[in-house]
Amino acid sequence: MDKTLIIFKPDCMKKKLMGSVLSRFEAEGFSVAGCKMMQLDSSLLRTHYAHIAELPFFPEIESFMASEPVVVMILQGEGVIPKVRELLGPTDSTKAPAGTIRGDYGETVMINVAHASDSPEAAEAEIARFFTESDFIKS
Ligand code: ADP
Repeated sequence: MDKTLIIFKPDCMKKKLMGSVLSRFEAEGFSVAGCKMMQLDSSLLRTHYAHIAELPFFPEIESFMASEPVVVMILQGEGVIPKVRELLGPTDSTKAPAGTIRGDYGETVMINVAHASDSPEAAEAEIARFFTESDFIKS
């Protein structure tokens, strides 16, 4: 089954929007396959955002992402990776259409509600980065 890694970002947590955002994912038939609350630190953020860690605005992203505990979640379902990205809308909330999560709830290019993996390779690496075997319930 396809899996993706979601981070409900500090703005989402602060505005108590996690339930509304998760409802949109669940309405598409996706299921929660793992979930935990974390305070992200600099080393984890530098790894997670390695592709932008050298850009001038990275320190701002780092302090935003570490400003509040976040919820990190694995969602699963057929086609979940592209569908969740479509539901989120583009990175820049000010350019995201109404009806997308970022269009409806995001504020700026940085303050944009949630992270979601953008490819199967990224999803696999990100799930391994945030979760270990002991996080999963054994049946
Ligand atoms: P996405 O989260 O849509 O996959 P990126 O991987 O390009 O986007 O960027 C990671 C995160 O960094 C974005 O979600 C956003 O919070 C922040 N970000 C991206 N570009 C900028 C920018 N130009 N200025 C400020 N923050 C940015």
